[in-house]
Amino acid sequence: MTGRSHRPASGGDAVRSAGADDNAAHGPDIPLDVAERALGVVTVDLAAVARNWRSLAGLVAPAECAGVVKADAYGLGASRVIPALMEAGCRTFFVATLDEALHCRRCAPQAIVHVLDGVTVADALIAHDLVPVLSTAADIDAWATACARSGRPLRAALHIDTGLNRLGLDVATPEGRRAVRDRLASVEVTLVMSHLACADEPDHPMNAEQLQRFVARRGIVPGARASLAASDGLMLGAAYHFDLVRPGYALYGGQAFGGGRTPVETVVEVAAKILQVRTVPIGESVGYGASWTASTPRRVATLPAGYADGVFRHLSAASGQVGGVVAVRGRRCPIVGRVSMDLTTVDVTDVPGSPVEAGEWAELIGRSVTIEEVGRRAGTIGYEVLTRLSRRFHRVYRGGA
Ligand SMILES: *Cc1c(COP(=O)(O)O)cnc(C)c1O
Repeated sequence: MTGRSHRPASGGDAVRSAGADDNAAHGPDIPLDVAERALGVVTVDLAAVARNWRSLAGLVAPAECAGVVKADAYGLGASRVIPALMEAGCRTFFVATLDEALHCRRCAPQAIVHVLDGVTVADALIAHDLVPVLSTAADIDAWATACARSGRPLRAALHIDTGLNRLGLDVATPEGRRAVRDRLASVEVTLVMSHLACADEPDHPMNAEQLQRFVARRGIVPGARASLAASDGLMLGAAYHFDLVRPGYALYGGQAFGGGRTPVETVVEVAAKILQVRTVPIGESVGYGASWTASTPRRVATLPAGYADGVFRHLSAASGQVGGVVAVRGRRCPIVGRVSMDLTTVDVTDVPGSPVEAGEWAELIGRSVTIEEVGRRAGTIGYEVLTRLSRRFHRVYRGGA
């Protein structure tokens, strides 16, 4: 990052003189060459990812902190995020699919890479020293067969169910346990894991219930390491940490935990440069379906980002409805009318100072408008907001190796 940068949302000189701290709160630094060319920019702060990992690792020590980098590191770019996590000290990763695992292996030749979807192509897993997470009897059989063929026990993790009823082996009954044990004979199980259903709600009785079941069932493989918690679970306290925690979302600045702040900072900022500002006369509508009508003359800015970029159409606001917000010069402005494929319209009338103009930057996601808030307003969660940010946004990585 050079000193040559342009601060979005800092608009005209009147605002830029508001002081560096003020401007810093308005949005990310965008390199000048990018600011001149790109209309929509996702900034990923890799140094913040590294600090977040270290912070969580410190919180759960002596348990180990892994990094969950599935779905291209929650949409942020696994090839940039994985090296940043490695540099911070992360040595154990989780991905969902075989392709993600192969990519993770290329980024992290020495790391332990777990594949949550289990055994798809055993030969590929073996060739690249990947660790499948076994969650069905068929998975175990496939891996046991691969072990037999290769003439040695191969590492695997075992995913047992404790109440989520999604993936995970049923080891609640003696028959279930026996069926698993019989199949495991030739497999080297290094990790027994399970996953919590309600960890974001610290008072939910399901947490203690699943913890108790996990303690009772993890012995299915004596001596194996154990892992129960993801981002929110690790906030439930040391009883949930076991040998390894598996955060994803929190590494990327997510604050899904409902019982207080997770000790992580903002990683992702999304900004778009205003294409045009017009005054919409009283009684005129804005956008498709004419769903929103100006009840007084309004200044409406058009942003070059829409649902094809990951700005949810559910953030649209008809007259009298509340939709999404963006921040312009740090001031929150409501989305008005429908979000379309490439464009979003926002009411900038109430931004103080000189009238907002084309060329100023609006913060769609960042410190003023968090991923949690965007998720809530769109009727979804921050996880989906992150993973849907499209590749059409220009990407800027800061703080990377
Ligand atoms: C996605 C996932 C995680 C990471 O969850 P976060 O809430 O993002 O921390 C951990 N474990 C499993 C099994 C997962 O599927």
